[in-house]
Amino acid sequence: MAKCLCGCRQEVTRKSRFIQGHDQKLRTCFEKSIGGADNLIKLKRIVDKIGYEKVFALLKNNR
Ligand SMILES: [Zn+2]
Repeated sequence: MAKCLCGCRQEVTRKSRFIQGHDQKLRTCFEKSIGGADNLIKLKRIVDKIGYEKVFALLKNNR
């Protein structure tokens, strides 16, 4: 069995990555951590432009 990707450690069915509603929870949490929905939209634009591999590479380098 797979585990819910939000980190709550509950098991999910093979087809879904989240327990129902937990993707929203994770998104809200992520939104707060980067400073709101506006920043989330900006971040999405960057991801769309340069690709997620580069974004993740940058995030790793900043740790
Ligand atoms: Zn969860």
